[in-house]
Amino acid sequence: DLDHKIIRTRQTIPVSAGHLVLLYPKYIPGNHADTGPIQLVSGLTVTGNGQRIEWVRDTVDPHAFHLDIPAGVSSIEVGFEWLTQPDNAVWRVVMTPEMVNLQWEKALLYPAGYNHDRITFAPSVVLPAGWQYGVALDTTGREGDVATFAPISLEHLADSPMFAGQHYRRVDIDPGGRSPVHLNLVGDTAASIDITPEWTAKYEELVDQADRLFGARHFDRYEFLFAMTSRMGGIGLEHHRSSENTGAPNYFSSANPAYGARGLLPHEYVHSWNGKFRRPSDEYVPNLNVPTQNTLMWVYEGQTEYWGDVLTTRAGLGTYEEAVVNLAEVAGFYDQQPGRQWRALQDTTNHNLLGYRTTNPWSSWMRGTSDYYREALLVWLDADTLIRAETNERKSLDDFAKAFFGVEDGVWEARPYTFDDVVQALNAVHPHDWATFLRTRLDAVGPDARAPLDGIERAGWRLTYVDELTPVEKRMLSGWAGDFQYSLGFSLGSGNRITGVRWGSPAFEQGLGAGWELVAALRRGDD
Ligand SMILES: [Zn+2]
Repeated sequence: DLDHKIIRTRQTIPVSAGHLVLLYPKYIPGNHADTGPIQLVSGLTVTGNGQRIEWVRDTVDPHAFHLDIPAGVSSIEVGFEWLTQPDNAVWRVVMTPEMVNLQWEKALLYPAGYNHDRITFAPSVVLPAGWQYGVALDTTGREGDVATFAPISLEHLADSPMFAGQHYRRVDIDPGGRSPVHLNLVGDTAASIDITPEWTAKYEELVDQADRLFGARHFDRYEFLFAMTSRMGGIGLEHHRSSENTGAPNYFSSANPAYGARGLLPHEYVHSWNGKFRRPSDEYVPNLNVPTQNTLMWVYEGQTEYWGDVLTTRAGLGTYEEAVVNLAEVAGFYDQQPGRQWRALQDTTNHNLLGYRTTNPWSSWMRGTSDYYREALLVWLDADTLIRAETNERKSLDDFAKAFFGVEDGVWEARPYTFDDVVQALNAVHPHDWATFLRTRLDAVGPDARAPLDGIERAGWRLTYVDELTPVEKRMLSGWAGDFQYSLGFSLGSGNRITGVRWGSPAFEQGLGAGWELVAALRRGDD
């Protein structure tokens, strides 16, 4: 329902007489938190043999609904609405006049008490007239605007979202490959999905470079869902055989899209290997309502960030110089981060469970989600350069990638792993006390704790602080003109409003806080 921005669900669920609990998904894979939008579920109505069956919500777990199924009822009809939101203030926009991002797990209920691979869905969707879609499901029928898909388990349905749109284009980026890989482009306008041959060639190169890095593939097909939009909410979310991505409407036509935007698809593609095929064992829970734990996010996101940046460069989506500027920015940020005085990198893996990606003006002190991406990237650079140095460049982290992620070609069930599995795989590449190596970096905390910067020097670089930015730095670091975090210790947003103050910096010591407005800057002696 595009007019009202409402997604309406109808389900037929086989049941037997007696007590039944229906669950609305709570822990969303990739969010690593309880982000299922139960607040947006309305109109829940259940019938059996045409008679209403009243439900009662569980008072401890509001994602659960209790029902008593009468004798003689073998299936129930369940209907409800997902009231998607008109702006991005709280929940991201998933419906615009031109496109829809359908995430199945937000539009279904399922019976409690089952593993997610024991529940089968036979999904179908009614689309606005004339729309096309991309999704990593097998279409079995298309009649008018109704698309029907082959039966699939709850586990994989929740992992197979759809981008549908008025403007749609499908691009093969692995012609003749062993398993199809496609870009599925939707856009605010027809012009926004006008991909050039140069861009297509870069994404083809990304597929080749990932093959060279990992060796094996763990999908029978891979669908990049890629929306060029300023109206739908931004997303970069990984799945086993697809990913949800957004870029600016002029992404393909602008001379130089942001480095982060060019790095998005490489990052999400790596997750098919790191995060989905090899999955942290404490995150691989039986279904979407069992609490997740996230202790291995420094592998899941940290090494994905590392390979995402490497593949961005290897595929020609970014330059070597850009990669170095990006790395310098990460290294400088963590070199100066005071938060490690109280909080170890390991503890930031719990951060999404504290409240999903809440903003914080004291991020340098609080630490948070981005640390297990970006500081962990430095840990993996440290490991990579150590392996290279101690083996005279005969081995590298590429060998770990091949051995850990690149096994069992064609298999796409998840293969869970533990901390000890990571240590073992590193030792198989190059013997070292990897358990201590990792734990000292992950658990470093207190006044003497330092950022894991050894990889910078070992790679032949040096982290320095200078007054002048290069043209590439000015282009890449948006907001550089208002960024004084490494000197006075604050950053300015629009209207000269202070958006962040580094904990313990000169600005902090002078009593400045976020939200202040800078009206003048005086030299000592001026009046
Ligand atoms: Zn990621």
